[in-house]
Amino acid sequence: MHTEAANLTAAPDGLRYPFPTPPKPDEVIELAPGLLWVRLALPFRLNHVNVYLIADGDDWTMVDTGIGNEATIAAWTALFEGPLKGVRITRLIVTHAHPDHVGLAGWIVERFGCPLLMSQVEYLQTAYHRHRGMPERKEWERRFFHRHGMNQETTEAMLGLGQDYLARVSTMPPAYRRLVNGREITIGSRRFQIITGGGHASDQVMLYCAADNIFLSADQVLSKISPNVSVWAVEPEADALGDYLRSLASLTGMLPDDVLVLPGHGVPFYGVKTRIKQLADHHEERCGMIADACRDKFCTAAELVPVIFHKHVLDAHQTGFAAGELIAHVNYMWFTGRLTEEVGPDGIARYTAR
Ligand SMILES: [Zn+2]
Repeated sequence: MHTEAANLTAAPDGLRYPFPTPPKPDEVIELAPGLLWVRLALPFRLNHVNVYLIADGDDWTMVDTGIGNEATIAAWTALFEGPLKGVRITRLIVTHAHPDHVGLAGWIVERFGCPLLMSQVEYLQTAYHRHRGMPERKEWERRFFHRHGMNQETTEAMLGLGQDYLARVSTMPPAYRRLVNGREITIGSRRFQIITGGGHASDQVMLYCAADNIFLSADQVLSKISPNVSVWAVEPEADALGDYLRSLASLTGMLPDDVLVLPGHGVPFYGVKTRIKQLADHHEERCGMIADACRDKFCTAAELVPVIFHKHVLDAHQTGFAAGELIAHVNYMWFTGRLTEEVGPDGIARYTAR
């Protein structure tokens, strides 16, 4: 795979795309011997998710599953009766607890009688998500958004977010095998290093095969999208952005630049170090905008949302993610000493740049 990278011309974003055309819903693309790429539809603006199959002797290990709805079950059924006829899944790896990745874990595990492999945090996270609608949690979320200056109307709209997690995830398998950062997993002839990282999810799993120079990046490094990095009410003082930037720094130190990146969304690409730098720069640029906006004055996170997200009118769903992202930046800048926090008698946190 080293030679392909050298022969490709870089796209305007500085990356090289050896497989620019993704598989259609009823297609499978062979990226390398014993390495298959499937793409499934998602009912969001981000309209697809990638699944990879890795040869494991005569059988296959699947990485991620698609979202847990009827359309995805129909798509898998057609694939297993068509281009994947006779394919037996003997292990299912799920990279993280978001519904587009873990959604059909229960269905796949039941269909093939195979084990589920996840990091411990991400497996337990699925249980946490299942109880998001509890009144105690909603009340805590209200306080969290109030602390960051969100008005009541926006807050109530955002409280509905993610409540349909259950509907998007088939029954989770009651047991799993743990994937641990730094350990290795052998899949067929390939040995993969297990890498986990925070920021987008708490302990997202990535897989790196040095011999074949391939890196399954899950949602940590995507080519066109900056993965959502948010702080939520469950851990109000989380340093999600710090976690994310530390993960990126460690990846750029460990991966060769000509590694083929197989991401959770988008198409495979070369240029991982370039992309990591773009992602880190993007967050630094936002930190700079926040610092400028609250220089010599105090701002709430809610007041800072339009400073960063000024290009579009946001619906409740997008406002929720924008708020989560903004709080991640504010926390990070507070931890690194770039912002000072003051909580008023109204219980609202306000920030100023030093
Ligand atoms: Zn995803």
